[in-house]
Amino acid sequence: MKRVLILGAGTAGTMLANHLRRELSGDEWSITVVDRDNDHHYQPGYLFIPFGMYQPDRVRKPRTRYLPPGVDFIESAVLRVRADDSEVDLENGRVLGYDWLLVASGTRPRPDLTPGMADGGLWHTKVFDFYTLEGATRLHEALEAFTGGKLLVQLTDMPIKCPVAPLEFVFLAEDWFRKRGIRHKVDITYVTPLDGAFTKPVASHELGSLLADRSIRLAPDFALERIDNDRQMIVSYDGRELPFDLLVTIPLNTGQQFVIDSGLGDENGFIPVDKATLRSIAHENIFVLGDASNIPTSKAGSVAHFSVETFVPNFLEVVNGKPMTHSFDGHANCFIESGRGQALLLDFNYDTQPLTGSYPLPAVGPMKLLGRSRLNHLGKLAFEQMYWRLLLPGHKLPVPTLMSMAGKHEEE
Ligand SMILES: Cc1cc2nc3c(=O)[nH]c(=O)nc-3n(C[C@H](O)[C@H](O)[C@H](O)COP(=O)(O)OP(=O)(O)OC[C@H]3O[C@@H](n4cnc5c(N)ncnc54)[C@H](O)[C@@H]3O)c2cc1C
Repeated sequence: MKRVLILGAGTAGTMLANHLRRELSGDEWSITVVDRDNDHHYQPGYLFIPFGMYQPDRVRKPRTRYLPPGVDFIESAVLRVRADDSEVDLENGRVLGYDWLLVASGTRPRPDLTPGMADGGLWHTKVFDFYTLEGATRLHEALEAFTGGKLLVQLTDMPIKCPVAPLEFVFLAEDWFRKRGIRHKVDITYVTPLDGAFTKPVASHELGSLLADRSIRLAPDFALERIDNDRQMIVSYDGRELPFDLLVTIPLNTGQQFVIDSGLGDENGFIPVDKATLRSIAHENIFVLGDASNIPTSKAGSVAHFSVETFVPNFLEVVNGKPMTHSFDGHANCFIESGRGQALLLDFNYDTQPLTGSYPLPAVGPMKLLGRSRLNHLGKLAFEQMYWRLLLPGHKLPVPTLMSMAGKHEEE
């Protein structure tokens, strides 16, 4: 019996288990999935919890409900991968051997790495994250109680998962205050270490204009050094200070501790891979899917989805001793909530930045790229059901796996 071991039953790990169980004979292959708990979170839903649009329970479901028959699920934390022995140590004392290891352990917010953030007296009273279920839930209570003052929405550093989520938060917050009739009492600033609203020039220009239209200030090039809890200020490495009444921060994101402890990660705990095949540079029998690798594209569920679809046929080739013939292009596809019941859509890959245009079809769309529309917003909301019903079980969605230039305005 040949053994596939998948570490992590989040977005990528669950899709992998479903795809591979269909493709690999149960007589010849065992598939085992490990996760620290049985609680799968639909993380894009965290965005809506602070605004009372989703209740916290809406985003959680048992992981085992989405794993197929014929896959063993082990509930335990992973402590270490001993790659030279092809073995994994679990917190529950078990040691699992593997022929092929698929790491899908994602990334995690690390508020403990910035002085004055998690260890400051204001954490979860005036300083919040929304990248965890607890943070998003506590932030809802704080927003309900907020009657006016300075709101900072602040990104600590890249890379983070879903790099558009901080901008979505700021647009939804602006809309929320407007609907509550207190927009004129709230001074909103988006604080970023980047030199503009976003990483890529065309998207940065479009999103920067939208911030200006909504009278949201932009504080670029702000590299956070620490939070001064006594003076309610964020302080940058170059000595700039910004005061706040409410701070919504996106902490540093790193890979998992077991990746670092196993010597598999780079300085941020992300595993170096070949960006086309997702095979570990250091170990031939390890592949990395989802946020856990160092590929130069967004960390996003859509990237996990497209990369799994490219990886599976490659994996079937490699286990049969053939060369891999499929190449992942870094395809990412992200909706950006812009408030007022509208959203934008980004579609890009390793080589092509987000451009304006229509998606998935030229001229007819029906989605608009980098333009606001009601349909984009409805697409974002509909994605929740697609995630649980189609994406996790590994069914094909009506979008191309590799990025297409059809409908994009190339002259930009
Ligand atoms: C606020 C927010 C909004 C987002 N919005 C979008 C969006 O609109 N579109 C989009 O495409 N993406 C979005 N994302 C990003 C998306 O959720 C992630 O990119 C995606 O879930 C990555 O999948 P993954 O499998 O790599 O990691 P995850 O889904 O995070 O899964 C990793 C799994 O590994 C497990 N694990 C980690 N360490 C261990 C250990 N030591 N032992 C055992 N198990 C372990 C974890 O418990 C987890 O289940 C959003 C994320 C956030 C936080």
